[in-house]
Amino acid sequence: MENSSVTDFKRPGGQLSSCPPVEKWDDWVEYDPDAWPRRVARHYQLIPTICFNCESACGLLAYVDKETGDVARFEGNPMHPASRGRLCAKGPAVLHQIHDPDRLLYPMKRKGPRGSGQWERTSWNEVLETFGARIRKAIQEGRGEEVMYHVGRPGYDFIMERTLQAWGIDGHNSHTNICSASARLGYVLWHHADRPSPDHANARFILLLSAHLESGHYFNPHAQRIIDGKMAGAKIAVMDPRLSNTASMADYWMPTYPGTEAAVLLAMAKVILDENRFDAAFLKNWTNWEELEVDGFKAQGQSFEALIEALKRHYARYTPEFAEKESGIKAQTIVKIAREIADAGSRFASHLWRGSASGNLGGWQSVRALMLLHVLTGSVGTRGGHNLNAWNKFVPRPFTVPPPQKRWNELLYPPEWPLSTHEMSFLLPHLLKEGRGRLEAYFTRVFNPVWTYPDGFSWIEVLRDEKLVGLHAALTPTWSETAWYADYVLPTGYSSERHDLMSQETHASKWIGFRQPVLRVFQEKQGKKVDYTYEANPGEVWEEDEFWINLSWAIDPDGSMGIRQWFESPYRPGKKITVDEYYGWIFENSVPGLPATAQKEGLTPLGYMRKYGAFEVTTDVFRLNEKPVAAADLAGSSVAPNSVITQKGKPVGVMVEGKAMVGYNTPSRKLELFSTTLADWKWPEFALPEYYCSHVHRSAQAASLGRQPDDFDPKYMPVVDWPKDAHGEVYTLLPIFRLPTLIHTRSGNAKLLYEIAHKNPLWVNPVDAEKIGSVRTGDLLKVHTEIGFFVLHAWVTEGLAPGVVACSNHLGRWRVNKEDRIERFTSAWVDLKEVGKGQWRMRQITGVEPYESPDPDTRRVWWTDAGVHQDITFPVHPDPISGMHCWHQVVRVERAGPDDHYGDIFVDTNLAHAVYRKWKALTRPAPGPHNLRRPLWFPRVARPADAAYYL
Ligand code: SF4
Repeated sequence: MENSSVTDFKRPGGQLSSCPPVEKWDDWVEYDPDAWPRRVARHYQLIPTICFNCESACGLLAYVDKETGDVARFEGNPMHPASRGRLCAKGPAVLHQIHDPDRLLYPMKRKGPRGSGQWERTSWNEVLETFGARIRKAIQEGRGEEVMYHVGRPGYDFIMERTLQAWGIDGHNSHTNICSASARLGYVLWHHADRPSPDHANARFILLLSAHLESGHYFNPHAQRIIDGKMAGAKIAVMDPRLSNTASMADYWMPTYPGTEAAVLLAMAKVILDENRFDAAFLKNWTNWEELEVDGFKAQGQSFEALIEALKRHYARYTPEFAEKESGIKAQTIVKIAREIADAGSRFASHLWRGSASGNLGGWQSVRALMLLHVLTGSVGTRGGHNLNAWNKFVPRPFTVPPPQKRWNELLYPPEWPLSTHEMSFLLPHLLKEGRGRLEAYFTRVFNPVWTYPDGFSWIEVLRDEKLVGLHAALTPTWSETAWYADYVLPTGYSSERHDLMSQETHASKWIGFRQPVLRVFQEKQGKKVDYTYEANPGEVWEEDEFWINLSWAIDPDGSMGIRQWFESPYRPGKKITVDEYYGWIFENSVPGLPATAQKEGLTPLGYMRKYGAFEVTTDVFRLNEKPVAAADLAGSSVAPNSVITQKGKPVGVMVEGKAMVGYNTPSRKLELFSTTLADWKWPEFALPEYYCSHVHRSAQAASLGRQPDDFDPKYMPVVDWPKDAHGEVYTLLPIFRLPTLIHTRSGNAKLLYEIAHKNPLWVNPVDAEKIGSVRTGDLLKVHTEIGFFVLHAWVTEGLAPGVVACSNHLGRWRVNKEDRIERFTSAWVDLKEVGKGQWRMRQITGVEPYESPDPDTRRVWWTDAGVHQDITFPVHPDPISGMHCWHQVVRVERAGPDDHYGDIFVDTNLAHAVYRKWKALTRPAPGPHNLRRPLWFPRVARPADAAYYL
C-alpha cells in the first residue's frame, strides 16, 4: 500500500528535523521499515513521558502503534526543557525493558523458606490486606519505627514522604549514603542546598571532578550543556585518576591520586589568594568571614584585610609542590589552571558528585575545597557559575500536607552520625545484628542492596532472618538478588507505566516533568474508560501511587486512625483520591504559570501536561540570595549583631550593605566559609575547608603492612587488617565508575545494553602489571579486600594512573538456579554456599548463554561474560562525619592460583562486622549543643517535628 500523506522529517524551510512537530503527535504516519521495499504506512499516537533509567529525568516520546495498541519505540521529547529531544542509549532501551519476555508481570508470594526461590502467584488484594493489617497493628501498638520504606531509585518528588508522614512514622530510608552523602555534606555546610547546579552552557572554565560527558548525575542534560560551553570557547579540566571519555575531551586531564583532590584544590585557592585574584566584595559580603577562628586568629572585630592575611597564613601549607607530592599532578599545571579559573571569575562552573567525594574518607572536604574556589572567584549564583539545586528544582505542593512525625528512628539516623546528610542505610544489617531494632514490615523499592551495596552477604543474613525482618515486600520492575529474599515480589512499572512528577537541577532553569503511563493515556484517547493504571499496563503491573493510596486505606479502613483523610479526593469529599485528581490539583494550583499557559491552548493544566510532558516554570534563577526579604517577613523583625534578620525567632534574611536580602538557609544566612556547625559538633579542626587524608592514602597502605608513617593518624583513619590468606601488591581500587549504557539492576533486562557492555575487567597500569608479575590483558587476577576476595580478568591500560586499579560498576549479576528468570542475558548461574558461619563462597557454573523464549533475540545471545560482582566483597566504611560509605578500597592484587576460577568470590561476614565496628569508633556521637541529635538547620528527608531532634 502506498500512502502519499506520510509525513516527512522536513521543516518548512526544507531543513531536516529530528522529531515530528507537536501538532502531528495525535496521528503521526510513517512507513513500516519491516515492510520495505513496500511502502506500508503506519499510524502512531505520540505520547510524552519521562525516562526512569537514571536520575536525569529526560523526556521520552512513546510511539504507540494505533493498530496494535502497543509501544513501538521511544525517542526524545523535544518539548522537554532539559533533555531537548536527546537521549542516551538507556532512553530508547525502555522498549526492551517493557517487552522483556522474562519480566515480572504478576505479584508473587514466597511458598518455601526465605531465599529458597519457591514462589506462587498471589493477588494484589491479598498483598494489601496482609500489609494493611501488619502495619495497622504496629502503628497502634506504638511500633511505627518497625515499618520501613527503603528506596533505591525514587524517580518521584515528595509523594512518598507525604505518604509516610500521613502514617505518622519515621520510616523513610534511601540509598543516598552509598551514593552522594559525602558531596551533599560538603555543599550543605556551605549553603544548605545539598546539590550543585552548574551553568555549564555559559561558563568560561569548567572543572569536572566527574565523568559528565558519559555518565554521572544528570549527565545527558549536563553533557549537552558542557559541549555548548565548549563550543562557545570554555576550557575544560577533568580531575580523575582514570582516562574517562570525559577526560579525553578535556583541555586538561589531572589524574590525581585518589583522595588527594582537596590538596590540589586548596593549592589552587592558595594561588588565587596569594596573587590577590579573588573577588573581595563577594567574599566580604557573602561569606560568614567574621565568625572565623583559626590558628589563634579571631576575625570578629578585625578588618577584612586582616582576615585575608589570616587565610593566606593558614593556607600557606597547601603549596602547589605539596599538592604535587600528594596527588602526582605537576605544580606548574596546578598554578596554570588556578590562574585560568581566576580569569574565568564569575563564569567558573564545576561539578563534583561522586568520585572523590564518594570514594574517600573525608571526601566531603573535596567539595568544601572546590566551593572555596567558587567563593574566591565570586562564581556563586552567577550566569556561567555555580548555582544551588534549590534554585533550579521545582517541587510543587499537593492538596494537603500531613504534619511531621513526632518520632525519631535510630535505625535511620543513629546517634553516632549526627551530621550524616541522609539515612545510614548501608549499616542496617549491622544495626539489626546489634539488636538496635527490628522490622515488622519492610518495603524495598527499586532497590537491590544484596547486589548494589557493599557487604551484600550481611544483607542476606539479615533478610533471611524472620526474627529481624518480619515481612518483606520487594516492589520492583525486575527480579533482583534482593527480591530473592523477600516474602512478596510486587511488579511495578517502568518509565512508561506510571505517574510521577520530576524536576531536576539540570541547567539554569526551573522545570517540571510529568511521567505518565502511556498505554493508559492511549486508551483514554481512544475513548476507553480506565479507572486504574494496571488495567492498561501489561499483566498486573501496578503503578505505585495507586498501591500506596490503596494501602493507606487498607491500614485505616474506617478513617479512625486519621490516616485515610490524606488519601481522600479534594474534589469528592470522603472518596478515595484518583491519580488524575492528585496531579490535576497540583497542576491547577501549585505550578505558577501553568494554568494560564494551558488556557491559551484551550487545555486544562492536566491536559497540557499530558500533551507536552513538561513545563518550564522560570528561567529567572540567578543570584536568588539577593532577593529582597518580603515585607511580611520584615514586619516585627529584628537584626542580630551578625546581621541576620529574624522574625519570631526564625531567620528570614540578612542585612548586606544596608539592604535586607533573603541570603542562604544557613545559620549566618551567608556562605559558611567557617563552619560553626562543625566547630560546635566536635570537629573544630575541619571548620575551614581542609585536606583530610583518605583511608586509601599511601600512609594507610603502609600502615596496613605494619609500618606507621608520620602522616598516618589512627584518630582519623582505621588500619586495614588483612585476612590471613591475603597476598600481593597493595593498591587503591576504584570501584565506582559507571558504564554509560548500564544502570545498576534496572538495565538488567535491556538486551541491547548488555550486548554493548558486559565485562568489568580490572584496569591495571602497565607499570603495575609488571610489578604484579608480567600480567597481560586477559590474565586472571585475585583481588583481596579486608573481608574476602574476588577473581577477574586484567585489562592492562595506560588510561589509569600507576598505583591504582579500577573496576566498573553495574556488572556481575548472578542467579542461583539455572532456569530462574533473573535477567538471563545479564547474569551468571552460580553455586552459592555458606561454608561456615558467616563464610560465603560463590563460584560461577556458567556465564551467559543463549536460551529459548518468545523473543528470538534470546537465542542469538553471543556473549558469555556476566562480569564479576565486586561490591559484595567490600566491608562498610561509614565516614564518621558525612556518614557516606567510602567506596574506594585498599586491596592486595596477585595472580590467581590454580584453584581460582573467573568470578570466584569469598567473604567472611564476621570480618565485615569487625570492620564496621572499627569505623564506628572514629565517630564523635550526638548529642551536640542543646542536647540535639542533629543540627536543626540541616535538611532531612521526611523531616520530623523539631521536638524529635532533641535526645
Ligand atoms: S540520561 Fe539516559 S538514562 Fe538518564 S534519564 Fe536521560 S535518557 Fe534516561
